[in-house]
Amino acid sequence: MLSTMQDVPLTVTRILKHGMTIHGKSQVTTWTGEPEPQRRSFAEIGRRATRLAGALRDELGVEPDQRVATLMWNNAEHVEAYLAIPSMGAVLHTLNLRLPAEQLVWIVGHADDRVLIVNGSVLPLLAPVLPRLTSVEHVIVTGPGDRSLLDGAAPRVHEYEELIAGRPTHYDWPEPDERQAAVMCYTSGTTGDPKGVVYSHRSIYLHSMQVNMAESMSLTDNDTTLVVVPQFHVNAWGLPHAAFMSGVNMLMPDRFLQAAPLAEMIERQRPTHAAAVPTIWQALLAEVTANPRDISSMARVIIGGAACPPSLMTAYEKFGVRLCHAWGMTETSPLGTIAHPPAGLTEEEGWPYRTTQGRFPAGVEARLVGPGGEHLPWDNASAGELEVRGPWIAAAYYGGTDGELLRPEDKFSEDGWLKTGDVGVISEDGFLTLTDRAKDVIKSGGEWISSVELENALMAHPDVAEAAVVAVPDERWGERPLATVVLKEGAIADYEALQDFLAASGIAKWQLPERWTVIAAVPKTSVGKFDKKVIRRQYAEGELD
Ligand code: ADP
Repeated sequence: MLSTMQDVPLTVTRILKHGMTIHGKSQVTTWTGEPEPQRRSFAEIGRRATRLAGALRDELGVEPDQRVATLMWNNAEHVEAYLAIPSMGAVLHTLNLRLPAEQLVWIVGHADDRVLIVNGSVLPLLAPVLPRLTSVEHVIVTGPGDRSLLDGAAPRVHEYEELIAGRPTHYDWPEPDERQAAVMCYTSGTTGDPKGVVYSHRSIYLHSMQVNMAESMSLTDNDTTLVVVPQFHVNAWGLPHAAFMSGVNMLMPDRFLQAAPLAEMIERQRPTHAAAVPTIWQALLAEVTANPRDISSMARVIIGGAACPPSLMTAYEKFGVRLCHAWGMTETSPLGTIAHPPAGLTEEEGWPYRTTQGRFPAGVEARLVGPGGEHLPWDNASAGELEVRGPWIAAAYYGGTDGELLRPEDKFSEDGWLKTGDVGVISEDGFLTLTDRAKDVIKSGGEWISSVELENALMAHPDVAEAAVVAVPDERWGERPLATVVLKEGAIADYEALQDFLAASGIAKWQLPERWTVIAAVPKTSVGKFDKKVIRRQYAEGELD
């Protein structure tokens, strides 16, 4: 029997129309480096997005399904692109501006991007590779930057403001099938080649609702969220679309992502919420410890993308800031789990839950799979690879314009679940604790050592600024841990003391690293995560003693 309910497609267009009318007064504030930031209401953003859609269709001839790429920081124009491009039936492709040129060229060609919107400040990066971006016919430039860098470029170059000026603030929005492509984003390639994930209108709509829910980020129009996580990294974790749904004000740092300007914008603009990877919060902590600022407005912070050391959570408590741990991937839109303790617990009782990766929301089903393919119990002890499925989880990767969708065996199970490549345990009440990425686990004498557990324990030491642990080959044990440590200023390396500290914090004796090295900084990926591929290579090439 069919239901009697209306079958209204869940689309980004609905999010745009809703945000610009019902929440027209909410604001996007973009940091400019000038005394006053740029402020734009949702109503204005919506009107400008409408004009942008008109310009793309009428002036540049963009058709449904064509890819319009962005090479942009987090700012108001990028939010306009987020809303305009999917709403007109085209596909927004957010490009990671920290990728090596080779990868950028490959990704743009693979996605067949026709139009590219770029921030003026990114032109020095774009100009040298532009001749190799052969699919791109139009480049639209916005914000300050030296336009002459594009002199002689093959694509037509447009000024964003000139392009949208004077256009109608009405657009006859199509009503796409909710399963149509809306946004595409390539994985950052921490553990392999980039792969294209294509989000649908429906997946974005449902994910946005989940982001706003009290059990997730609990966002309303009373909040201002500081969106540090880049808009080119999994849709800024879904925040811009979610914000337009609920009227959440957005504070956008543009290119001012260093700890000092972040601290200044928090003190002056007083966001109530923020989201970023651990390395950002480590750097901000060092900054506000050295140069005190009032960051207490930012009461709730989402931290994810890599494991959050519990010591970092504790350190932020004294600034009145509560870090909330979450897990996700490009393939999961990204919200996969979020760590709010169950109701009715004291702070002390809730603490162990906060240090897990968190609970699965209703839209994400999970299972743990053992090495022989068996499904493991949720007993907080049986460790296996996490597999997930749900309406905002990828079922395949984009295969290019002529290709079929890609479903590599190591990423998708035969029955259609996403194999996350993450290893961990799940408790009876559905809290996930990740021990490692499958590729980072240290296999020592047939037993597994968690690199993350060692890193978390090391980063709690007062002399340690950062620590990354990788597996290195060992004749006797197969693999053993190598601890690479960044010391705080003035600290002196004392490996024995660090070993004793690890032992005192509960690390088993056989897991203690016997290989140590001090490094100046942990190499980071394009989205700010520890890049263990690089550390392993440096070790193999004898660059680390
Ligand atoms: P990439 O795989 O290229 O780094 P993603 O941003 O999609 O790109 O990374 C997803 C991965 O990041 C996850 O599979 C997991 O290994 C890691 N990750 C994300 N959040 C957490 C977390 N809270 N704790 C530990 N690892 C995390």
